Amino acid sequence: MSKFLSRRFSSLVPYTPGEQPRDMEYVKLNTNESPFAPSPKVIAAVNGEEVKKLNLYPDPTGKALIQKLAETYGVGEENVFISNGSDDILNFSFMAFCDKDKGAFFPEISYGFYEVYAELYGINYKKIPLNSDFSITPAHYFNAGSTVVIANPNAPTGLALSVAQVEEILKANANDVVIIDEAYVDFGAESCVALTKKYNNLIVVMTYSKSRSLAGGRLGFAIAHKDLIRDLNTIKYSTNPYNINRLTMAAGIASLEDADYYKNCNKNTAEVREYTKAELQKRGFTLTDSKANFLFAKSDKIGGEEYYMALKSRGVLVRHFKNEKIKDYVRITIGTKQQMDVLLLKTDEILSEV
Ligand SMILES: *Cc1c(COP(=O)(O)O)cnc(C)c1O
Repeated sequence: MSKFLSRRFSSLVPYTPGEQPRDMEYVKLNTNESPFAPSPKVIAAVNGEEVKKLNLYPDPTGKALIQKLAETYGVGEENVFISNGSDDILNFSFMAFCDKDKGAFFPEISYGFYEVYAELYGINYKKIPLNSDFSITPAHYFNAGSTVVIANPNAPTGLALSVAQVEEILKANANDVVIIDEAYVDFGAESCVALTKKYNNLIVVMTYSKSRSLAGGRLGFAIAHKDLIRDLNTIKYSTNPYNINRLTMAAGIASLEDADYYKNCNKNTAEVREYTKAELQKRGFTLTDSKANFLFAKSDKIGGEEYYMALKSRGVLVRHFKNEKIKDYVRITIGTKQQMDVLLLKTDEILSEV
């Protein structure tokens, strides 16, 4: 920290992204990226005419992309917000809908960024413990008097609430915003988008990073009542109106035009998830019922950190969290079947040595 950093940030602990080491080629199963390349249509859109226009600013309203998203999700254009990754939207949401008086409720074990935003903006937040099986009880979020933020499916557990359970939370918080972070919804959970037509306090946040193979493009979107979308736009136009670059905008549109490609990739990921889960269970692992593109797994023979380290030394990266309550677990991104077979092979090697 320099002596110039504002005092209000002096104790800020930033979010730690999953490691992206460059020392060797790893089988990378640690940041929930898609193992599949973007659709050929996306690659063509980005390599084509658009790149010649990089001297010009992108459309700040993102009209063409918003139209496509509205069509795809069956909502109005006034119900869609787009931004530079869903992290950007979560950031704007904490800025827009929380402050010293209006706090935030989110699960104690969830996406680590929620707490970072809450700290960044000096918000009074409450971390709601998960049940011992890592499930979320909707009633714990009733009458929060605060903005409620829930990743559904949750990370890193992979467990999902049903739409009916989310609706209970919405009903019991009519005067507060409820943010449902659907980063992983396309791998097998139910989306709450339809509820945005019925509840003016719901924001559903989604990303292109996982189920649309575009983590490097940085694109996220949100669907909500038009008044909430207007609030998000107020924040966006007060920070960085051109926050989606031309190439990403073109990629985002092209990817919606190749829905079947992504449907196939995501179906494959869900199948490989179930295959890997069954194989790990045979090897004595306990796993949650993940609906996401990752598994949350605990060995009966080796600790979480030890397993993570042993895999890393064998060229396979997974994610381990030091939090006491989940330290026995690792989060394993679902890659291709071949990548998962490498994981299983290395796991057998490791287990034979303990
Ligand atoms: C990956 C992830 C995000 C961030 O996605 P980006 O669109 O890449 O910023 C947000 N929420 C959750 C729960 C995630 O896992």
